[in-house]
Amino acid sequence: MQKISSPDQEKKRLAALRSYHILDTATEQDYEELTELAAVICQTPIALISLVDANRQWFKSSKGLDVSETDRAYSFCAHAIQVPDEIMQIEDANKDDRFKSNPLVTGDPHITFYAGVPLVDQEGHALGSLCVIDQQTRALTESQQNALRLLAKQVIKKIELRKQLTDSQYTSKRLRSVNNRLVTSEHELKSIINHLPLPAGVYTGIDMVIQFANPAMLSIMGKDESVIGMPYHLALPELSAMDFPKTMLQVMQTGISYQQRESHLTFMHKGELKEFFFNYDFTPLQNEAGQVWGLLNTATDVTATVKARIKAERAEDLFRLSVSSANMGTWHLDAKTNSLTASERTKELFGYLPHEDMPLDAAVTQIAPEYREHVTKAIQAAISAGESYDLEYPIIGHRDKKLRWVRATGKLYTKEDGSMTDFLGTLIDITERKMTEQRKNDFIGIVSHELRSPLTSLNGYIQMLDIKASNQGDELIAGIANKAKRQVDRMRTLITGFLDVARMNEGKIQLHRKRFDMKSLMKLAEEELMATANTHKLVFHAVEHILVDADQDKIEQVLINYINNAVKYSPGESTIRVSCIKENGEVKVCVKDEGMGLAHKDQQRVFERFYRVESEAMQTTKGFGIGLYLCRELVELHGGRAGVVSKLGKGSEFWFSLPVLSSSNL
Ligand code: ADP
Repeated sequence: MQKISSPDQEKKRLAALRSYHILDTATEQDYEELTELAAVICQTPIALISLVDANRQWFKSSKGLDVSETDRAYSFCAHAIQVPDEIMQIEDANKDDRFKSNPLVTGDPHITFYAGVPLVDQEGHALGSLCVIDQQTRALTESQQNALRLLAKQVIKKIELRKQLTDSQYTSKRLRSVNNRLVTSEHELKSIINHLPLPAGVYTGIDMVIQFANPAMLSIMGKDESVIGMPYHLALPELSAMDFPKTMLQVMQTGISYQQRESHLTFMHKGELKEFFFNYDFTPLQNEAGQVWGLLNTATDVTATVKARIKAERAEDLFRLSVSSANMGTWHLDAKTNSLTASERTKELFGYLPHEDMPLDAAVTQIAPEYREHVTKAIQAAISAGESYDLEYPIIGHRDKKLRWVRATGKLYTKEDGSMTDFLGTLIDITERKMTEQRKNDFIGIVSHELRSPLTSLNGYIQMLDIKASNQGDELIAGIANKAKRQVDRMRTLITGFLDVARMNEGKIQLHRKRFDMKSLMKLAEEELMATANTHKLVFHAVEHILVDADQDKIEQVLINYINNAVKYSPGESTIRVSCIKENGEVKVCVKDEGMGLAHKDQQRVFERFYRVESEAMQTTKGFGIGLYLCRELVELHGGRAGVVSKLGKGSEFWFSLPVLSSSNL
């Protein structure tokens, strides 16, 4: 026989009873039926399922009794549970010392007979009893006792089942709510990510399964939605080769976020090998307990910005390099504030000390006086045409008063609305080159003068030789004399050219103007050239009568020079077209060839003295670069203009124009 006595055991029993959550619950049919059965089997008016609480006994079912609970002190069941594995039977309570003074015995409901089977759960806790009560003395038969035991087992089973049910109901309810919360938070997370203004994705597990990726992230990956749900290494094998999964796993394991800025990646993107720069972050995602359950990957494609910066940096480096290697001065004029920023080299060229401020007007006032007007006009013209200028002129140093020749370039930058922003320019010291040119000039002048008289004598002797040989019918000598004469003529042309340059420099070229018809000049040139130039197809277009007042020899010299150049710089058999038309009060002569043509930068400079294009094709053609210089100077002396329209490799059209004599001048 086992007795329950210790307070500790009683505490545990009460805890067990409470865990069934049955006290004070409503009447239930199942329990009602069991007490009904017990009463019928045992032939008693009262049958109870009594649960013994700390201070009371509470009846889950009470057949034949109107109360739902009584004081524990008067409880028969409280006694019954003291011996959990036995049925307690009291045939006459009036004769039992424990109960004879019990108000339930002495008063209502006048208990005389009592038989109770303890309700013991699987843990061995006696929660109460199933009992039958009568108001008269009696005893249960063996089979009634067995039946009561079986019924008690049913009761306890029901109580236990009920607990399991409520427990699992509670758990599933809890699960449902947790699940609901999860579904809601998953939904919210997805919606947040989809609305993020930057590419974002969430990966979970060791394999980094892509749970979500917003459209911007998919576009960066070069993938579509089919990658969602796939492990990262399968979805993006191209990127997986670059240690990404390892870094991500590290973030998952350590809980420390990771970020990279302007990371340079080259990978297959939509079937094309592409180069990218990304800013990206891996941020661990933690639950309430602080466990990392996934990571958030955000990334921004900064390729365009980084590439533009690299390009700008390279351009700037290149510019700095070329500026320093060419010992170039630079300057910048803020068109809004009119403030000039000059580099040290610019200041040096203008004769200022490095720490001195160079005033804006120095750029004009220090130009040598005889060039000032010409230079400022040319700059003005370039600005108003929105073009850059490239000029050579001498400046006089501020402190040292030294004359330096500079090559100056400049460009005005305007905004889209047409307002001026910045003026940028460069300066190179070309004094040395100019001095060399001057020396060359002087030398050519002197030598040409000195050569002229012996050449004139030589020409005379050859003529005499020619006449004598012709008279004597000596063809050999006559032929030699003829060849010698041609060489002398070539030399004379060269010397005349050099002398003209020297004279031009000194302003000593004299024009012998007379009225003549351009039609006849063109005819003369045609006859002369048709006889000599047989390597090319020369086409002279029809010319009307156009009167001019000019030095006919000099104008013919210009035309012949243009045509000779066309022959020199275009392939044999190609066509050269010569035209002469009246246009806007001017006569315009054009010589058009199908030759090598000129690059834009050379077109601006071919009329400069000694300028020759530097190219491979030019290596084989001889020349001094003075022909076109003389042409322009001569044309300008007549108040005309000269120029060229050309495309590299496509041919050139050299032209000059002269004022036409109006009928009132005739
Ligand atoms: P030269 O012919 O003696 O070099 P020019 O003053 O006549 O000197 O010409 C200057 C430069 O202009 C030439 O060296 C050549 O590079 C270029 N040039 C002149 N005429 C032509 C042309 N018709 N086609 C292409 N280039 C030309």
